[in-house]
Amino acid sequence: MQNTLRPIAIKKRIALVAHDNKKQDLLEWARFNRGTLARHHLFGTGTTGALLERELELPITQYMSGPLGGDQQIGAKIAEGEIDFLIFFWDPLQPQPHDPDVKALLRLAVLYNIPTASNRSTADFLISSSLMEHPYTRSAPDLERYLRGRTNFEPPQEG
Ligand code: PGA
Repeated sequence: MQNTLRPIAIKKRIALVAHDNKKQDLLEWARFNRGTLARHHLFGTGTTGALLERELELPITQYMSGPLGGDQQIGAKIAEGEIDFLIFFWDPLQPQPHDPDVKALLRLAVLYNIPTASNRSTADFLISSSLMEHPYTRSAPDLERYLRGRTNFEPPQEG
């Protein structure tokens, strides 16, 4: 896969998601980091987004609830280059009805090379990075070249 460079602006587009047993953890983390989060664009799955918006009194673009498709919506935004940062406290101790969606979201976050935290200590390190205050260039799949490579092939010769 050929890569290209994609910018992450100073004002980052951060998706926040937490499974039910991890919501308290995320709320506490977000409350502690409210000042930093307020400088960025925030997105969330339905329940997480609504709880955070109430807690932080900051606008949060809310997608559907995770089990109803919200994880997939966030994954699609990552693929489209419209979300470039993921804080996702997923539950390692309880199976979820939407585990395939969770796996898909985490896969896209790796594929598109966006900063991702799955637990609180990683989120602490990410949010206190000096890169939060700077633009950053990430390497990500070159979609145009990928498609060109798949469509510009020589058809097999007859006979
Ligand atoms: P929720 O979804 O914020 O609607 O609870 C989170 C998830 O389970 O992915």
